[in-house]
Amino acid sequence: MTIREHASQHGHAQSLPLISESATVTEVEAMDQPRQTEIRAKLRELAAEYGFEDAVADRGPPDWEAVFDAATSADRRLAPQIGALRDRFERAHPALVRIAFETDEPFEFAAGQYLSIRYGNRTRAYSIASSPNREDTELCVRRVPDGRLSTRLCEELSVGDEIAVRGPHGHLLLEDVSERDLVFLATGTGVAPMKSMIDYVFEAGRDEHRGEPRNVWLFLGAAWADDLPYHEAFSDLAADHENFHYVPCLSREPWLTDWDGETEYIQDALLKYVDERALEDAAFGRHMARMLAERPTTTVDARIDPEAVEVYACGINAMVYSLETAVRRLGVPQRYVHCEGYG
Ligand SMILES: Cc1cc2nc3c(=O)[nH]c(=O)nc-3n(C[C@H](O)[C@H](O)[C@H](O)COP(=O)(O)OP(=O)(O)OC[C@H]3O[C@@H](n4cnc5c(N)ncnc54)[C@H](O)[C@@H]3O)c2cc1C
Repeated sequence: MTIREHASQHGHAQSLPLISESATVTEVEAMDQPRQTEIRAKLRELAAEYGFEDAVADRGPPDWEAVFDAATSADRRLAPQIGALRDRFERAHPALVRIAFETDEPFEFAAGQYLSIRYGNRTRAYSIASSPNREDTELCVRRVPDGRLSTRLCEELSVGDEIAVRGPHGHLLLEDVSERDLVFLATGTGVAPMKSMIDYVFEAGRDEHRGEPRNVWLFLGAAWADDLPYHEAFSDLAADHENFHYVPCLSREPWLTDWDGETEYIQDALLKYVDERALEDAAFGRHMARMLAERPTTTVDARIDPEAVEVYACGINAMVYSLETAVRRLGVPQRYVHCEGYG
């Protein structure tokens, strides 16, 4: 199947039909947290445990080179953790913002589509994170280091500013309602089109088919807990709907806190939730077989039957490609796999 790569659609985004030259920004909110205080405390804890207190200063920014040398001399296995803590300590804040805006005239779009947004003299594409039923429109933007537009959106954009909006466009769209379960997979801001779809699915009663509930899954991956966009909203939705199963997967968070959820990449975490009875005769490579044999870390007790699902995935291209390979091997019919990658 063809995986649509969002990054190839920049040029196209500028030629979409104009919705508004002057949409008004109504909300701008940082979704991530500055976590320097937590990181300092973690460094002190590690220093006390491994005996490198001398390298950790009480005041001022840590001398990361000295900390790295002292920590890895104590135990080489600390290298990735110290590196991750340093990257996070030095990261600009905010790095993840939600932006809501209103247009004079309402416009129609389908859940899963994107818009092109111009602010100043830059135009870029951003997926719509809100349901088509909502009056205002929401985007979820991640700061790309030195990125020309995302940096300005994170640092400068304010309530009352005007942006030009074109679109909508995009082919990552929901299938007609059927008895199939829905599996959404996303990393980072790839969750935006999924948020729009999931909200719409529950608002429009599309989580049922002929009175029977359909299971709706979301596997959402990020490095740190506060990089999970809409974590609270998805947790609330899971508390309200027995058929919504939310599986956040955090690769770096256990290096800072006592996160006890999934830590694998989402394409691997997914395998832990597959119903092994559905796979009896299938043969898999060593890695897939190992992941399939692992037990979930969460309390979600539903399981996925690959032959009875439709899959929607959005995020970085590398994730989307390995995910597409994994779901194909599992036996998800190709016509029910919808993937988009952006960069
Ligand atoms: C259809 C579509 C939907 C999109 N939806 C969203 C969305 O919902 N939220 C969101 O935050 N972004 C989304 N993007 C990405 C967005 O359009 C921009 O590419 C991104 O904000 C970077 O723009 P920039 O001007 O800041 O960076 P640029 O100045 O264009 O790029 C700076 C450097 O960063 C690299 N780069 C560009 N994008 C990324 C990236 N995503 N990750 C890592 N490196 C990158 C570039 O190759 C370049 O080297 C989407 C893209 C497309 C095509």
